[in-house]
Amino acid sequence: MQFKHTALGVIARACKALIEPPEKLTPTQWGASNLIVPDGPRSGELWDPDFTPYICEPLDNMGPDSPVNKQSIKKSAQTGFTVMAIVGVGHSIDCDPAGGIMLVQPTQDALDKFIRDKFNPAIENTKSLKQKVAPQVARSGEGSTTYNKRYPGGSLAMVIANSTASLRSITKKRRIKDEASEYPDDLDGQGSPHAMIAARGISFLADGDWKETNISTPTVVGSCYIDAQFKAGDQRYWHVDCPGCREPFVFKFGANFKFNESFPYQAHYVTPCCGTVIEGHEKNDLVRKGSKHAEPRADGRPNGWIPTAPGAGKDRSYHFDALSSTLVPWDEIAKEWIAAQTNPSALKAFYNLTLGEAYEVKGDAPDHVRLMERREDYRKGYIPPRGLMLTAAADVQMRGIYVEVVAWAPNRESWVVFTDVLEGDTTNANAGAFLKLAELYDKRWPDAFGGARQVDAFAVDSGFRSHIVYQWCRDRMLAFAVDGRDGWNKPPIGTPSLVDIDLDGKKIGTGKIWPVGTWSLKGHWYEDLRREGAAAGHEVDPPGYCHFGTWLDEIYFRQVTAEYLAEKNVRGRKTKAWFPRGKEENHFLDCRVYNLALAEHLGVSSMTEDEWKILARERAPTITQGDFFAPKPLAVQVARPVTAAPAVENEEPQPPAAPPPRQEAQAESNWLGRDLGGWLNR
Ligand SMILES: [Zn+2]
Repeated sequence: MQFKHTALGVIARACKALIEPPEKLTPTQWGASNLIVPDGPRSGELWDPDFTPYICEPLDNMGPDSPVNKQSIKKSAQTGFTVMAIVGVGHSIDCDPAGGIMLVQPTQDALDKFIRDKFNPAIENTKSLKQKVAPQVARSGEGSTTYNKRYPGGSLAMVIANSTASLRSITKKRRIKDEASEYPDDLDGQGSPHAMIAARGISFLADGDWKETNISTPTVVGSCYIDAQFKAGDQRYWHVDCPGCREPFVFKFGANFKFNESFPYQAHYVTPCCGTVIEGHEKNDLVRKGSKHAEPRADGRPNGWIPTAPGAGKDRSYHFDALSSTLVPWDEIAKEWIAAQTNPSALKAFYNLTLGEAYEVKGDAPDHVRLMERREDYRKGYIPPRGLMLTAAADVQMRGIYVEVVAWAPNRESWVVFTDVLEGDTTNANAGAFLKLAELYDKRWPDAFGGARQVDAFAVDSGFRSHIVYQWCRDRMLAFAVDGRDGWNKPPIGTPSLVDIDLDGKKIGTGKIWPVGTWSLKGHWYEDLRREGAAAGHEVDPPGYCHFGTWLDEIYFRQVTAEYLAEKNVRGRKTKAWFPRGKEENHFLDCRVYNLALAEHLGVSSMTEDEWKILARERAPTITQGDFFAPKPLAVQVARPVTAAPAVENEEPQPPAAPPPRQEAQAESNWLGRDLGGWLNR
């Protein structure tokens, strides 16, 4: 019977509304008929559950009719789960307000961004929410505030994970913890934010009327909250049915995901069951259909969630990544994977943000004796031919300053150009060791082309003698007062904050302090140290390879490998942290970590080939451009006559010649087509 568009249908619906209580909407149903998408490609449109059907089950778990209390979602970026949180909040405000909601974000920045870009636009554009949420009224106890929204029957508190006061005072029936793996392990010695939030929920435990949703991209293996929550749960994956044989499987990054090493990537999937090939353009359709083997949904929408580790008493846990996301094309995944191969920080980002997996940081220090064996005979204080960028970093001690100067090639190869311990008093920015530091700051370092360059950036650790360091850096354009930060999800170098500079109890001005995420950078440093190059018999030095001069002594090598990664117990929760090896000092390790942060900041791993070419034209005028970007032609280049004219931009490509036997020093000078001005000692 088709009533829908007839007069009879209208009457039938009206009667139904009179005799039945208003129909209870699931969060998915509510979202589909109410929520206006706040941002992204479908911004301004009514939310469509069929576009990302994998959202529906965890979303409905947030509703009052679901028996699920707690769920955890380990996910990659760009999956649509942030919208899920917003739909869940909106449904509660409009349909089930009692008990209220607490929504947690890791930092003030993250919270403000969430409110500005997602929450406020969603409220503003969604009629049913705009009608209910009280506007912000100045100086009134009745209205909403930026972080606290009032509506009939309840309220929503939006807080940050490092605010002990908020976490200890707010009691809500529903809690949503967004980016839960980024919360600090311990708050002021009082335990983890997760434990504090759980403690506030105890009053709801007795009658079972509570809800907790954890959502996060993961961080590193052994230290990741969402990873641990996922493993403790029933581990649901979104399955699809093979078009060839109808067997269910999960799209996984691995042997079945195939692509070309360069453009066009032609990424496709070969099903594990019968080898049916699924092309990139067929992915979204398959994902949206889910699997016939999954439990059917009451509303008839597709479902693909199948628990892979079911068990009595287990909470629901979900994993979802870019392979299955309808928002990320497979070619894009292939491209990112290839680009991340030579860069540990990009590789960590790929695991976390694309695969939605925790990244394994190899924290055992490389053997310093083996590193010493591969030292190369180059001169201290000289910039190598391909060292287009130059950074310096300093670690301030009681009676001296450790300094390391590093040169960087476009493929992230690095050379230690200079190290020293500047002895002297460190209590005055204009005297003692800081004067010597100023000399290094001003110094023009000779390059291989007869020129000389100042460093591009100079980092000084402000953890000790902070205000002296702020002052020293404030007076110098290229100087960065840096401050190492713990934690696995901190960027190499973050947004600077302003600090007052106080000397002898007097404010003498304002400086900038730059946060550096040291934990991941240390892991990336060790990964780069493990790369093997020509010294180990390989044809070329790989991207990220670290070069050391013969003039570096054992103390340097002991220090740059002075820490190791180990498990640590923070109030009953296992996490991973760096520890010193015995009583080893680690000042040159700190210097290198800050140099790595500066390299990232300057764009060593993100600049385009064209940007490097511009820099190369200016700083390395006589090297063939290609040599910077493809190490392999180096051998071909060597085969040219020594008298070859310096390469110019539009030079005809040379026919490749058979590579001659490799002779290090000889090769290096021929390759440049000119005398290196004493760059090589031999
Ligand atoms: Zn099959």
